Amino acid sequence: MKIAFIGLGNMGGGMAANQAKTGRAVAAFDLSAEALERAGQAGCSAVGSVAEAVKDAEVVITMLPAGPHVLKVYSEQIIGAAPSSALLIDCSTIDVDTARKVAGLAKDAGYAFADAPVSGGTAAADAGNLAFMVGCDEGDFGRIEAALEPMSRITIRAGDHGAGQAAKICNNMLLGISMIGTCEAVALAERLGLDPERFFEIASKSSGQCWSVTSYYPWPGPVPAAPSNRDFQGGFATAMMLKDLKLAQDAAAKAGATTPLGAQAEAMYALFDRMGYGGKDFSAMLQLLRGETKGL
Ligand code: NAD
Repeated sequence: MKIAFIGLGNMGGGMAANQAKTGRAVAAFDLSAEALERAGQAGCSAVGSVAEAVKDAEVVITMLPAGPHVLKVYSEQIIGAAPSSALLIDCSTIDVDTARKVAGLAKDAGYAFADAPVSGGTAAADAGNLAFMVGCDEGDFGRIEAALEPMSRITIRAGDHGAGQAAKICNNMLLGISMIGTCEAVALAERLGLDPERFFEIASKSSGQCWSVTSYYPWPGPVPAAPSNRDFQGGFATAMMLKDLKLAQDAAAKAGATTPLGAQAEAMYALFDRMGYGGKDFSAMLQLLRGETKGL
């Protein structure tokens, strides 16, 4: 299978490498020379432009920062340049409207297109363990799943075009809210003289149990892989969570949905970002709630 991979950053770099590892021919492009070089070392063919990458691709995969990048790259550089038989898959996290617009442009030009954002951070991208949420025509799902296979733990069709992005922002709004709830509970436990590690033992087996507790506990110790054990370095940056919460709030406003806790979560991550902690993992919100941001 001939893959064109556009966008080789923190996520795309590992994803493209996993495609190459299975023996697929991967023509890779990124604006960053460093990212291109890393892709070359990981077994991809680094090429000099999007046009060169997609010219004889069977599958085009993009992993770009945000909606405007995706719209520009598809409308100006992919649609028309890739063979019309190519399957186009955008894995970036973007707004639902842009995803539907790009899908419409692609469909009008005769391409099959999917929005397929991912859950799982850079570790899952490197390990080929991502969860993909796909918006596509039902008949295209089989080949989309096969194309994503070297990068995925699970691939679920969410619905038609845009539904993958809708699933992603709803999931991340829930995560943003549940992490703040977890951090508030841990900060309160500490204030009440309850050992936060003992609280983990209890909450992880009680009705407060959720992913933010069991897999990403913001207090060091109980979950060794969580960023709380590494001074909140790496992981999922506060600025990235803020981006997803903004997408959720924009979507809620347009759809007339009521999301008061999502709005509150956005305000809290915006404050934390404004204080200069946008690069810290989002679970560092615990330190804000403890009034202990100096050490960050
Ligand atoms: P990143 O900034 O590390 O990578 C984006 C890459 O796109 C960069 O290398 C950049 O040079 C390249 N790029 C930008 N414009 C381009 C263009 N016109 N042509 C070619 N390359 C171009 O970002 P990332 O962390 O890899 O995230 C990518 C997407 O994945 C985002 O939409 C993000 O929200 C989503 N996401 C990230 C994570 C995470 O933990 N980092 C998790 C899930 C989803």
